[in-house]
Amino acid sequence: MSRHLTGRAAAPGVALAPAAVIRPPAASEAGEAGTPAEERARLDDALERAADQLEQLAEHVNQELGDDEAGIFEAHAAFAQDPELADRARKAVAEGDAAAAAVASAFDSFRALLEASESDYLAARAEDLDDVRDRVLALLAGEAFEVEAPRELSVIVAHELSPSQTATIPRAVIAALVTETGSPTSHAAILARSLGVPAVVGATGIVDLATDGADLAVDGHQGLLIVDPDDEERAHIQQRLDKDARRREELQALRELPGTTADGHRIELAANIGAEPDLADAVDAGAEGSGLVRTEFLYLDRTAAPDVDEQAEFISQVLRTFPGHRVVVRTLDVGADKPLPFVDREEEPNPALGLRGIRLSLARPGLFRDQLRALLAARADVGDQGGRLAIMFPLVSLPAELTEARRHLVEVAAEHDHDLGGLEVGVMVETPAAALAADRLASHCDFLSIGTNDLLQYLFAADRLLHSVSELADACDPIVLRLLDDVAAAAHAHDAWVGVCGEAASDPATAVALIGLGIDELSMTPAAIPEIKAALRDVTRADCRHALDTAMAQPDASEARDALSAGPT
Ligand code: PEP
Ligand code: MG
Repeated sequence: MSRHLTGRAAAPGVALAPAAVIRPPAASEAGEAGTPAEERARLDDALERAADQLEQLAEHVNQELGDDEAGIFEAHAAFAQDPELADRARKAVAEGDAAAAAVASAFDSFRALLEASESDYLAARAEDLDDVRDRVLALLAGEAFEVEAPRELSVIVAHELSPSQTATIPRAVIAALVTETGSPTSHAAILARSLGVPAVVGATGIVDLATDGADLAVDGHQGLLIVDPDDEERAHIQQRLDKDARRREELQALRELPGTTADGHRIELAANIGAEPDLADAVDAGAEGSGLVRTEFLYLDRTAAPDVDEQAEFISQVLRTFPGHRVVVRTLDVGADKPLPFVDREEEPNPALGLRGIRLSLARPGLFRDQLRALLAARADVGDQGGRLAIMFPLVSLPAELTEARRHLVEVAAEHDHDLGGLEVGVMVETPAAALAADRLASHCDFLSIGTNDLLQYLFAADRLLHSVSELADACDPIVLRLLDDVAAAAHAHDAWVGVCGEAASDPATAVALIGLGIDELSMTPAAIPEIKAALRDVTRADCRHALDTAMAQPDASEARDALSAGPT
């Protein structure tokens, strides 16, 4: 008989395949502690072997998946070699603890420090720390830490999947991912979305319910799991798989076509690039360039800033990926929840309101100017063999910040004899102040790109990382639509083009509103491009404007969203 279980939907799609249950290494009984000298030797040996294994894993991942993903494991290896962490554990051993107990307490006290920062970014590092701790404990217990990956296409089921465990499972065998713990932003969910397979997280009890090899159906839209589905359920799942396959074919047929409305109004549909693997996904999705290259990943998880050559090399690669299209590279947007270890900053009680985005770049001109050097070097290197570079400054709140950032750009160009002719420069509109100053900003730059993720957070005073307040901030809210209508009008009045690069661009109802208000470019996660392209090809520009006017007249976000989803009347 089939058995059902519900978790949280974390990546869309439907799958039916045998379950492969990944079990954590059994927790071994804590034995008697040896002498402090014996335990110290065991401790040092386990830390050293963990660091070696992680360095090898980083190398393996580098070859399989590229630099960016390998960086996670380089950071893990650094944790295993961290002198302060090792000192804490050695101190506990010297006081008579067994090596395993000392490792557990040293890692846990480090974890508490990271968690106390209340930042999502550092909380994710805490997850990484657990991963390293478990590896060291497994080594001390003489057990294997790596998972035994299935050889055939399977639904991977686990209590929790750590990044290093996930990295050892070949991608080709993953039909879906299901975990008992986690949230839609956990590693497993992110991996599933990048692989285009469904995921369900928070499925408490699935590890006991699904035996190895039992058929498991996963509905990543609704968070439903069916173990051993019966004939009727199988038929139903098969129908959905067929429907998904037909839809993929329909969308694939649009791949080479440009983004337009049904009446031929042109909208550029571009990809957001957050790391190297996004480049191939963007090309597969038929992206028309990039409206947002998030350069932060080049700086995070390292102890020193990347040098100019390394940055220029990556930017050249991005430009070469999109010949004939525009590539908007955003200058460094760190600070807040993405601190850089090599930049000293004072403690910030409200990091989202602190020294982040362009503010940090202007306060640390050395870092900023190196990045500008790299961008201009990549532009010169690629010439007309790749995309057209545009430079965008994040989290601008005053026109004076744009002026100052431009001054640095002009000076750096002069130092290196770079010609700035034809280079578009723009700002992100992601603070209420920038939205209200759109006309002044637009009169001093070539484009505005609306970052709805931050703009909504600041507009509604609702932390974008906090689930409990997430419902307050909706891009379809009539007050947001009216504000964006003004921003678009201000940009166009100064002959600047206007784009949207926040998550809102990938929501079909919001995209209709955005086209209604005259947005010229939508940039989004590559996987969302085909559906948005299809949705816009079903409506005319006038339909979009009509839907927008109706939405703006509604009392709240939910009724505005209904008006936008209703389709042409
Ligand atoms: C935004 O704020 O909408 C945006 C695109 O920038 P990020 O999500 O990187 O802050
Ligand atoms: Mg932002």
